[in-house]
Amino acid sequence: PVSFNPEDYKSLVESFPGGKITYALLTRAFVLINSTRSRIKIVDTLTNFLRTAIACDPGSLLPAVWLTTNDIGPPYEQTELGIGGSIISKALIKVGGLDQKGLRTLYHKYGDAGDAAFEAKVKQRTLRLREPVPLTVKDVYSSLVKISQSKGTGSQETKQRIVERLLVQSRGEEVRYLARTLVQHLRIGAVKTTMLIALSRAFLMTHPPGALNPASDPPTSLSKLSKEAKTEIFSTAEEIVKACFARCPNYNQIVPGLLLVGLSGVKDICKLTVHTPLKPMLGSITRDLPEMLGRLGTREFTAEYKYDGQRAQIHCDEKGKVSIFSRHLENMTDKYPDLVALIPSIRGSNVTTFIMEGEVVAIDSDTGSLKTFQTLASRGRKDVAIGAVEINVCMFAFDLMQLNGEELLSRPFRERRRLLREEFVEVDKRFTWVKSLDATADEQDAVIEFFKGSLQDKCEGVMVKLLDNEIATGEDGSAQATHDFDLEKLAEEVRPKSSIKGKATKGKEVKKSGRRKPLLATYEPDKRLESWLKVKKDYDASTDTLDVIPVAGWHGMGRKSKWWSPILLAVRNPETGSLEAVCKCMSGFTDVFYQEMKEKYSEDGENTTRAKKAYIEAPDLHPNVWFEPQEVWEIVFADITLSPNYTAAIGLVSEERGLSLRFPRFLRKREDKSIEEASTSEDLAMLYRKQTSSGKPIGDVGEDF
Ligand code: ATP
Repeated sequence: PVSFNPEDYKSLVESFPGGKITYALLTRAFVLINSTRSRIKIVDTLTNFLRTAIACDPGSLLPAVWLTTNDIGPPYEQTELGIGGSIISKALIKVGGLDQKGLRTLYHKYGDAGDAAFEAKVKQRTLRLREPVPLTVKDVYSSLVKISQSKGTGSQETKQRIVERLLVQSRGEEVRYLARTLVQHLRIGAVKTTMLIALSRAFLMTHPPGALNPASDPPTSLSKLSKEAKTEIFSTAEEIVKACFARCPNYNQIVPGLLLVGLSGVKDICKLTVHTPLKPMLGSITRDLPEMLGRLGTREFTAEYKYDGQRAQIHCDEKGKVSIFSRHLENMTDKYPDLVALIPSIRGSNVTTFIMEGEVVAIDSDTGSLKTFQTLASRGRKDVAIGAVEINVCMFAFDLMQLNGEELLSRPFRERRRLLREEFVEVDKRFTWVKSLDATADEQDAVIEFFKGSLQDKCEGVMVKLLDNEIATGEDGSAQATHDFDLEKLAEEVRPKSSIKGKATKGKEVKKSGRRKPLLATYEPDKRLESWLKVKKDYDASTDTLDVIPVAGWHGMGRKSKWWSPILLAVRNPETGSLEAVCKCMSGFTDVFYQEMKEKYSEDGENTTRAKKAYIEAPDLHPNVWFEPQEVWEIVFADITLSPNYTAAIGLVSEERGLSLRFPRFLRKREDKSIEEASTSEDLAMLYRKQTSSGKPIGDVGEDF
C-alpha cells in the first residue's frame, strides 16, 4: 500500500505546471450547470470538465475543484477569504466606472453581487482599449489563496489590488462568477456530493480499471460492458471516492491521490489521520420509543443518554499534541484549553495516539449536574485562555475511531466501546463515558425508564446504537458484511471475456443478491444509518419538527397590518446552495414577537431587500419584502404535501412537484443553529417518505390560506 506523505503530494502538485485551462472554460461549465435542473446533466457537465482537466492540464484539476466547491481549503484549516463587502464594492466602483449610488441601485435591482458586477462590467465594455490577458483557473485560485493568506498591516491594500486585477482581467460570465466567488456565494448546482460523483466518473473514464496495473489484461473498456455492469462499476467508484472523502475530507489530499494512484489505490492514501477530522456518523430520526424498538427488532442494542452539548472529535498524537474538531469539522482546539489540558490525565498508560468522539457539556463543577446548551453557548468561541474559563465542561465520550495508529472504524461498536472504557481513565466531573443501558426490545420497561431518566438529567433523549454486526451469510456461508470496495476485483468480474471464436462477449452479469443488507455496528463516517437511532423528547412525541429559515414577509391584514404576516419559510439545499421556500407561516407568534420581527426586518433596513436573492427558490411568490437569511426557527406542522406551488425538495420525491407543509406553527428560535445547520430538502423528503410509509393521511394539495 502507498503511504501518504504530504511533502510528496506538494511536489507532485507543483510538478504539474497547470495554467492551460482558462477560467472562461470553467465559467462556461458553471453557466451550463446553472441552466438546468437535471441532476444527470449537472453531473455530466462537471464530469466532462474534470476529464478535460485530467487529460490536458492535471495541474488545474485541484484549483478547479476548489473553485467549483467555492472553498479554498478544508473547514478545519480555517482558510477564509476575509474580504468584506467594501473591498468588492470599491473594486466594482473603480472597474465598472460607477459611483456608490449606481452600484447600490444595481444591487437592489438584482439582489446578487454577481449579477450586479456583470451588469456594471458590461456597461464598461466599450471603453476598454485593449483586451486583457485571459484568466486561468490556476491563476484565479492562487489569487484567492494569496488573499486569504494576507494578514496584518497593508493586507487590506493587497487584497484590494488582487480583487481589482481579477475583475479587470475578467470578461462576460467570468465577472458574474468571480464576484459570486468573492462573496462566497457561487450558487451553482454542483457542490459537495455532486463533485465527488463527478470526480469518481471522470477518473473512471480516464483510467478505467486495469489501466493502472500493467500486469493485468488491457483495461476494461466501459463501453463494452452491459448496462448493469456499468452501473455497478460506476457506483463502486462513487462509493470509493465518497468513503475516502468521509475519512479524509480534504481535496488537497484526495485529488493528488487520484492523480497519482487512481481510483484503485486512493483508499490506501485517504485513511484516518490524526489531526485531520473525519466526517461524523449521523443518527436516524425515530418518532418515538415504540417505533425505535420496532425498527431494531430482536437485535441487542445500547441506549445512551443524548447529551445536550457540542459534539467534539478529539485527536491526540504520540507527542501529546491535541486537536479538537466540531461536528462541522471546524478546529475548535482554542475554544477548549481546559479539555486540552485534561488529555494527559485521561490517556491510559498503553495509549499512544487516538481519535475519540463525545459530547462536551456545560456542568456545575460542585454538584456535577448538567447545564443547558445555552450555558455552553455563552462560553467564548475562540482563543479562550485557560485561566479565563468560567463555564466548566465535562466530556462524555461515546466512540473511539482510532487507537495507537490502528483504525477502528470496521470494528463492531461493542469492541470500540470496550477499548474506549478500558484504555482511558475517568476524571471526576471532567471526563467520563456516556451513561448507557444495554438491552433488547423485550426489555421495553427498562428502556422507557432509562429514557425518562435521561430527560430528568436534562438530556435531549437517547441515542440507540447497535452493538454487534448482524452477519448475514451468503449461499457459501461466508459473512456478507464488508467495508471494502475493490474496483479491480469488480472489473475482473465484469470484464468482457474473449470467446473461442475471438468475439468479445459481455462480461459476467453482476450478481444482484436481492438479499437485505445486514445491519452493521461499524462506524460509518458521514452516513445516517439504521444502526444509530435518535429518540428525542419532542414537544409532542407524535410530531415531527423542522428547523427552517425565514426568508420573506407579506404585509399583514387587519390587526396584523403593522407587522409581517405571513412569513415565508425555507429549507436548505446543500447541493445547490439555494434556500427553497417550503410554506408560509402565520401561527404560533406572539404580538411581541411580531413587533420584534418588524423592527429587525424593517422596510428598507439593512436586513431586507426589495429584490429576491437569486439563491432563494420561490417561483411565483411575490412577498412585499425579502429578508437577509440569518436565523433558524423550529416549526411543527400537520403534514407534508406534494405541492404545485413550492419547489422545495423537487426531484427527491417527485420530478415535477415540490413539497410543502400544512398548518405550520412556530415553536421557537433555534439560537444554537446557524443557517448552515437548518433542515435540508433531503430531511424534508425523508419526513415525507416516512409519513407516506406510516399510512398517515395526507392533506389536500394546496395552500392553507
Ligand atoms: P444530526 O447531527 O443528526 O444531523 P442534529 O445536528 O440536529 O442532527 P441531533 O438531532 O441533536 O443533531 O442528534 C445528533 C447529535 O447528538 C450528535 O451530533 C451529538 O452532538 C449529540 N449526542 C449527544 N449524545 C450522544 C451520544 N450518546 N451519541 C451520539 N451523539 C450524541
